[in-house]
Amino acid sequence: MESVRKTFGGSVVLRDVGLEVPPHTVTALIGASGSGKSTLLRCAGLLEEVDDGTIHLDGEEITDPRADQDAVRRRIGVVFQAYNLFPHMTVLDNITLAPRRVHRVPRARAEEQARELLERLGLGGRAGDYPDRLSGGQQQRVAIARALAVRPRLLLLDEITAALDPELVGEVLDVVRGLKDDGMTMVLATHEMGFAREVADQVCFLDGGVVLERGAAEQVFGDPRQERTRRFLRRIV
Ligand code: ATP
Ligand code: MG
Repeated sequence: MESVRKTFGGSVVLRDVGLEVPPHTVTALIGASGSGKSTLLRCAGLLEEVDDGTIHLDGEEITDPRADQDAVRRRIGVVFQAYNLFPHMTVLDNITLAPRRVHRVPRARAEEQARELLERLGLGGRAGDYPDRLSGGQQQRVAIARALAVRPRLLLLDEITAALDPELVGEVLDVVRGLKDDGMTMVLATHEMGFAREVADQVCFLDGGVVLERGAAEQVFGDPRQERTRRFLRRIV
């Protein structure tokens, strides 16, 4: 991301935001409520149009009006706080919908891949269940499986544990740890500072739509350069 600017009805929400996410790394976005974390993720996932600046994915400028936006979106998986599973579809159908409809993967193959994913995320045996039969943590893991089903190059995770009961947070964070070990490139917005410190290679502190500080997790958490970062971390941790 280079010099990204985003406004909503005249108010600037992202100001000159630059961010580089190396492949196979995890970037944590931290910052107070309203600092622009979700907006940054939504811009990166082409769910919002930027007002200014550019975003590249694998060397291609995806903010170029001539870019094939649908093709780009297929390379980016997004998971939100609210899992947004389709309630009238089984777990298996939730996961296979995009591969089948968008990627034209034959049903049998899509289902085989979905079952593998479910197994990997500790949900083997839940393929036939409807979402309302699952706990919040299980539903969120299905949402992650659904995002992974299209084999994205990049995974954007927005406060994926925020809606969960505390005892269910761990199982979802375990999935993120596993994905990191597999080398998935991820950008996640989180208020879980302990987790961010553990899992992130890079931490980006947003303050009023500005990237105030960006660096290795150890540096930002252990020895923040900016007084505002210090104050934010002191309040939170
Ligand atoms: P939180 O930690 O609470 O999730 P955040 O860092 O994700 O906060 P954003 O949701 O990105 O913050 O919001 C940044 C600012 O942009 C806020 O002032 C918010 O009110 C504003 N904003 C976000 N989306 C919209 C929208 N669709 N229309 C108008 N304003 C918006
Ligand atoms: Mg948010």
